[in-house]
Amino acid sequence: MDRGARLVVVGAGFAGASLLRHLPPPLRKPGETLLIDRREDWTFIPLAHEVAVGRVHPDSVRSPISPLTRNTCAFLRADVAGVDPAERVLHTSEGTVGYEYLVLNPGSVAAHPPAPLEKHVQTFWNIEDALALRGALNHAWNLATSPEITPPGLLNVAVVGGGATGVELAGEVASLFDYLKKRSHRRPLEEPKVVLFEATDRLMGWLDPYFDKVARQTLANLGVEVRLNTPVDEADQFGVRFGGEFLPAATRVWAAGVEASPLVRELPGKHDGSGRVAIDEHLTLPDHPEVYVLGDAGLYTDPKIGPLPPTASVAVQQGPWTARDLKRRMRGAGSRRGRPPFRFFDRGYVVSLGPESAVADAVGLKLRGPAAQALYRSVFLYYMKSRRDRLVTGADWAMERALGRLGFQSEKPEEAS
Ligand SMILES: Cc1cc2nc3c(=O)[nH]c(=O)nc-3n(C[C@H](O)[C@H](O)[C@H](O)COP(=O)(O)OP(=O)(O)OC[C@H]3O[C@@H](n4cnc5c(N)ncnc54)[C@H](O)[C@@H]3O)c2cc1C
Repeated sequence: MDRGARLVVVGAGFAGASLLRHLPPPLRKPGETLLIDRREDWTFIPLAHEVAVGRVHPDSVRSPISPLTRNTCAFLRADVAGVDPAERVLHTSEGTVGYEYLVLNPGSVAAHPPAPLEKHVQTFWNIEDALALRGALNHAWNLATSPEITPPGLLNVAVVGGGATGVELAGEVASLFDYLKKRSHRRPLEEPKVVLFEATDRLMGWLDPYFDKVARQTLANLGVEVRLNTPVDEADQFGVRFGGEFLPAATRVWAAGVEASPLVRELPGKHDGSGRVAIDEHLTLPDHPEVYVLGDAGLYTDPKIGPLPPTASVAVQQGPWTARDLKRRMRGAGSRRGRPPFRFFDRGYVVSLGPESAVADAVGLKLRGPAAQALYRSVFLYYMKSRRDRLVTGADWAMERALGRLGFQSEKPEEAS
């Protein structure tokens, strides 16, 4: 064994960071706890769509992991390739790591596009995807407003997947085109068009139907064409094909969901269709009570709500709960006695619909429009990891009107003479 610790935590995302912040004193020592992550910084990914349209700087949503570990735990930057629960060992790019307790929070990866699409759509899952999209949109706009002859569909954007990510992205891209039209000297020859494709009959099907209703109305006002019951069959470098029709589109984004990290797909036990591994009422593997699986990687079925979705709001409740459970176990609590089960407190959900609007269902209160957008911003600032992140993201939002969007043309149109 190359190294080891009493508690090993894999992943410093929403679940891992909230766990480390609440670690009980006996584990709050670099010799007792080891954090492993493949990256040295962490991204507040729920704002990726705002990075893609230049409203938020990528560095504002990226923060270093090191402050989280100061005086709390040791940090190993490594890729974890496998877990051997029988031997209580992790296999990592830096060697083997032993543990007494293991908390796995490796999150998700983008669901793979099907073969007829994969070569010609870009995924939208991490900050690199957001920056690639920002580059593609910027390039398309500059070309479309240049004197050159341009191909049809240069400013058409096809977003595949009407979940929260696809909805938020479609709203932002439509608002971006509005912004660019107001700020640019030249008008493109062809009007931009954003089309959101959803295979089922509803947007954001796992949320209350209110989300679908408000999103469709707001997106229509922003000029987004929503196509329900419309799976995209194929994509090429010119556009997308669906139900016998073809939409020329230079930008084609795949936003149709996530899958569990490959790390948990190999774990013993039951898995759902996306690879998440089933965990019990203590968020541990049923046959390995020393292995917790939190956040997007674990499939927890709440007795009242059912299987919980892979969202940050679930992850940030599971981290602190696990810290308390570890504390109880360290004091000698048995598997049932003295260890209450995890229960999810549903505080609701909020989805942004462009810079000025959002839709929310928060603790039983349904909201839409600017009030929901204000709630959306407050929730996100609250969940950011540091004061610095809150400050710079807040500043990006505040300065957007005065200074324009990052990475996009920001000159005002010339006054008509
Ligand atoms: C575009 C987008 C928008 C979203 N918007 C929202 C939203 O508005 N609201 C909401 O509630 N949720 C949203 N989500 C979902 C939310 O981001 C996830 O539910 C949340 O990040 C899960 O937290 P986690 O701790 O499980 O994983 P993560 O936060 O993803 O953290 C995983 C960590 O594990 C590390 N890691 C992964 N694999 C390995 C490995 N093999 N070895 C070492 N380290 C590893 C990663 O580097 C990372 O630091 C969004 C997701 C996406 C993609």
